[in-house]
Parts: sequence; structure tokens; C-alpha cells
Amino acid sequence: KDARRKLIAGNWKMNGLAASAPEFVRVVGAYQGGLKADVDLMVFPPFTLLTSFATASRGAGVLVGGQDCHAKPAGAHTGDVSAEMIADAGGQAVIVGHSERRTDHGETDADVRAKAEAARRAGLVAVICVGETKDEREAGEARAVVSRQLAGSLPDDAAAAHVVVAYEPVWAIGTGLTPTAAEIAEMHGFIRSELAGRFGAEAADAIRILYGGSVKPDNAKEILATANVDGALVGGASLKADDFLAIAKAA
Ligand code: PEP
Repeated sequence: KDARRKLIAGNWKMNGLAASAPEFVRVVGAYQGGLKADVDLMVFPPFTLLTSFATASRGAGVLVGGQDCHAKPAGAHTGDVSAEMIADAGGQAVIVGHSERRTDHGETDADVRAKAEAARRAGLVAVICVGETKDEREAGEARAVVSRQLAGSLPDDAAAAHVVVAYEPVWAIGTGLTPTAAEIAEMHGFIRSELAGRFGAEAADAIRILYGGSVKPDNAKEILATANVDGALVGGASLKADDFLAIAKAA
């Protein structure tokens, strides 16, 4: 059987108010009620809810994290949040390099790598996102783009204990479109071989590679059964506990 435990991660993006906390509490309850043996769960709420989610999950095994972090531990960076602050608020993980950060905030691979290194420094797991745009895929450049992003965004000491890779084709995020299972298998196999080339086969074998982009309860089973897919990074469908749990049960 697969040595890599499946990981289902929910990215709430800029959604969620205090009134949404019960959805998260339901996820924690269901996890404790039986999902635990088969799958790891992570939820990335907005920073405003991080402390309350961390408190609600304390000791329950559901991990929580930030959706981004600054590369520096502290300083004059108005509006930013450091990896150390996420850890201090009770988080265990952070997403770095999400395509919405790369696009909306002009983050480069070097920025993403610095953030992943900051996560390590603070004791957080970094979920490092890569993925091509529609134009890049249509131009036959998907592999080249992902290869370049991996090379630039992953720290030299990347290892399974503190790095998760998320393959998120930009054109699949929030669109209802997904690559075919064969296309996902091809890219995930490629990512695995890129990791092996840089970190060695043993380290590469242990690193989890998530698929992200329009994962829903009705397509989760096929996607999660695909070779080298070690879980999912779920946006929209993570906001409703029922949908998120249905995806976790498909893992
Ligand atoms: C995401 O943004 O990480 C994502 C996968 O979003 P969605 O599931 O809504 O496509």
C-alpha cells in the first residue's frame, strides 16, 4: 500500500466570518469520528479565523494554517503576517505560491522559495503551489512551466516532513474545469521525477503531491485514485463541511 498518507487540504481563500466556525467544528468532529485512520486533513482559513480554528482543533488532529506568509520573521511590513506569527497563532502549515498570490501580488519563484524557507524556520509545513496557465498548456509548455516553478520555488532541503507540493493548473482553479485523469497522472509523474532528480528517489517518494483545481465530491474519487496523487487542495468545495468531508471520504 501507498506509504504516503493522503492529505486533503481546504483553502478558504478570502471567505469566512466568525459565523463560519461551526462548519469547521463539524469537520473536526467527523475527523475524530472516524476519518482519522485514512487521511490527514488541513484547513487554511483567513488569518482572522486562524486562532479560533486552531483552538477548535487543538489536539483533534486536524491541522490548520495560513494562506500565505512573509519571508521575514518580523519587521516593518504593514499588512503582512510572518510564518512565526502563524505558528504562534496555533497553525502548523502555510500555503505558499498559490496562483492567486503569484498573479495578484506578483510573487516570483524566488519569493515563494523564501516563504517556504520561512515556513521551515518557523516549524510549519509549506504547501508549495505550482501550475501552468491555459495559454501555457495550449502552447505545450505545461511541463516546462511546472519544472521551472519547482526548481525556483522549492528549497534545497525540501523533504516530506515539511514540504508538500500542490499541482494546481491555473485554468482549473474555480472554473469547474479539470484535466483528465490521464493528464493529471502524467503531470504528477513528471513532478515526482523532477523531485527525484533534485532530492533523490527516496526523498521524492515520500513527498506528497496534491492535485488542486475544481475538486468536488463528484470527481474526487477518480482524481484521488490517480497515480501519484497524494491528496487534494480544495478551494470552493472546502467551505461546506459536507462537501469537504465527502472529498475526504473519497481519499
Ligand atoms: C485553490 O484555489 O486552491 C483551488 C483548488 O480552488 P477550487 O477548488 O475552488 O478550484
